[in-house]
Amino acid sequence: MNGLDSKFKEKIVKDLPFSNLTTLKIGGPIKYFFEAKTEDELIEAVKFAQKNSLPYLVIGGGSNLLVSDKGYDGLVIKNSITGIARGDSEERSWRVPAAIRQRPESEDTRRETELAGPGAILKVKGGTVLQDLVDYSIKNGLSGLQKMTGIPGTIAGAVYGNAGAYGQTISDHIVKVTILKPTTGSSFNLIGGSSQIDSRWSLPRTSIRDGNDNTEIKTLTKDACGFDYRHSSFKENKSIILEVIFELEQGNPKTLKKESEEILEKRLVKYPKGIKCPGSFFMNIVTENLPKDVLEKIPQNMIMYGKIPAGALLEEVGAKGDSIDGIEIAPYHANLFVNKGGGKAEDFYNLAKKYFQKVKEKFGITLEPEVQLINLPALN
Ligand SMILES: Cc1cc2nc3c(=O)[nH]c(=O)nc-3n(C[C@H](O)[C@H](O)[C@H](O)COP(=O)(O)OP(=O)(O)OC[C@H]3O[C@@H](n4cnc5c(N)ncnc54)[C@H](O)[C@@H]3O)c2cc1C
Repeated sequence: MNGLDSKFKEKIVKDLPFSNLTTLKIGGPIKYFFEAKTEDELIEAVKFAQKNSLPYLVIGGGSNLLVSDKGYDGLVIKNSITGIARGDSEERSWRVPAAIRQRPESEDTRRETELAGPGAILKVKGGTVLQDLVDYSIKNGLSGLQKMTGIPGTIAGAVYGNAGAYGQTISDHIVKVTILKPTTGSSFNLIGGSSQIDSRWSLPRTSIRDGNDNTEIKTLTKDACGFDYRHSSFKENKSIILEVIFELEQGNPKTLKKESEEILEKRLVKYPKGIKCPGSFFMNIVTENLPKDVLEKIPQNMIMYGKIPAGALLEEVGAKGDSIDGIEIAPYHANLFVNKGGGKAEDFYNLAKKYFQKVKEKFGITLEPEVQLINLPALN
């Protein structure tokens, strides 16, 4: 623990069970745990890990994690930095090309309004609970996130895995993402367009610092985030998602509310209150990524909107209702692995591996976990 300032040391929790932090209620002890409530604290925690050569993991709501019974031999940082700020029409104009902005004639002003749209731009901290943003958008008559109601976890967790439901995904309305990027040997920098934008927003921004920190803050355009079905480039580069800018369209609060209530009702059938699970375990299969000979063997009625639901394949190989000790595959949904109480990561993993292999044998399809495996080997 060399180089750790004593104030920070006081805030670190040792040997916290990871199971306290996951919706699955599984996971062994965490060597060091820290909850960051400000960006400065988050940076401090990353610096601590870097200085002490510790592996570190940033988590949000723990709703998409399967953590080993051995736990995590490093620093887990829970990102609890929250906040939603709304831009007015003037702030929105930063997206309008400079050539248009510089000519404020009436036609161009109209064009600016068109580009900005009648909705709003929201700047949201990564630790904000997704449901809080969904509720905020519905209340304020902003459309685009209402179908994601009921998905647990944080904005950053959702961005990391490009979460979605009922035809909406978190990336649909993202404009930019600000990240903290661990670097090698460089000093702390604030680069990209973020400083320009930040001065006009009410959310607090981390100050630029001097020193030998091996981190930098960077703002990425949506194109640079590599969003795809349940995928983002953050899965590969492990940058820390700090905040996200969304552009939402105008909607009718009553209609949005009704739409989300209907979805919540459907979700409660699959995910009854208090269920201990990490959501769907395997990703659905995008048919265009499958070799022709594999696709030919799949019954046509299994393909929906260009995807084969993993649950349908798992059902075909008899997964529904199977169990190993405290872990059960829901009798009503073959892609839902539930901790019935006292379940272990090992049992979960073995049950998942059993059906991963059966699907591979029968269909030649390699299922990919949607859930993040922590301190566990890949399934294949
Ligand atoms: C009952 C239930 C229903 C669900 N339904 C859905 C659904 O309909 N659709 C869907 O897509 N998902 C669903 N999920 C899965 C899960 O809720 C989502 O994946 C969610 O977005 C994860 O957010 P989180 O904050 O909990 O992330 P966590 O589980 O804490 O972390 C997930 C991953 O994100 C990374 N991460 C978290 N924060 C950061 C950060 N600041 N910077 C970089 N990386 C970060 C973590 O390192 C980890 O790899 C469901 C889960 C449950 C339990």
